[in-house]
Amino acid sequence: MRIANHEGRAVIVGSDGKAADIATASGGRFGPDPQGVYDDWDAFTAWASTAVPVPDVELGKAGLGSPSPAPSQVVAIGLNYADHAAETGFEPPEHLPPVFTKFASSITGPYGEIELPDGGHTDWEVEVVVVIGRTAHRVTADAAWDHVAGLSVGQDLSERILQFTGQAPQFGFAKSYPGFAPIGPWLVTLDEIADRDDLALGCSIDGETVQSGRTSKLLYSIPRTIAKLSEVITLRPGDVIFTGTPDGVGFGMSPQRFLRSGETLRTWVEGIGEMEHRFY
Ligand code: ZN
Repeated sequence: MRIANHEGRAVIVGSDGKAADIATASGGRFGPDPQGVYDDWDAFTAWASTAVPVPDVELGKAGLGSPSPAPSQVVAIGLNYADHAAETGFEPPEHLPPVFTKFASSITGPYGEIELPDGGHTDWEVEVVVVIGRTAHRVTADAAWDHVAGLSVGQDLSERILQFTGQAPQFGFAKSYPGFAPIGPWLVTLDEIADRDDLALGCSIDGETVQSGRTSKLLYSIPRTIAKLSEVITLRPGDVIFTGTPDGVGFGMSPQRFLRSGETLRTWVEGIGEMEHRFY
């Protein structure tokens, strides 16, 4: 099942690309708020498994928003691929990769334009995004996938000058400009994903591929990440986890390269979909 946020309403997207409004199809039991479907995820998936929604929504790229537009928490993991840690000059984390937040006001949808901060060095980071479906506190890695609603495509856009200003890295602050957390084009539930532990992911700028990796190379796999986070944090339905980026970011290039006004960034994850953003 694919769930999208279309013009602020939760919709189910069929394999034929046709979409149905969830509030209409469920007689008001679920939706229309896209965030609301996660609050009662078990009941929602039970309904969706037998429902035959009549397509009534014309999906348009411009109308798509983040499938989780206002999560209670956004958790992000840094340096979670060895090749990315190496290119940025860090040792791969021996125990726990950096955990930080992207403030929720930076979330945007899968298509559109994003403003580059004046004088900044804005970098790209393709990531698989996890959306939580069941409250997770002190869950084991073995049980972690049972707490996931599905996966989506994310970009952890990062302004590198601000990120390294001060005595400790400013991960959360420098990665939270408006539009710096695109998520989309929809949420794909795990039953539709061929191998949830090994997904290709990448991104390109104006057609030139800059990142190409696989989630099987994650230092902390998605289940281990959820287990570790849940030792401390209570993850709630709808919460979002940016799981880390593979190598190929502009900061690690020689010479370094950053996003420029007029460039288009295409971001994809195998089996989930793609996003496209233009910068100005
Ligand atoms: Zn990142």
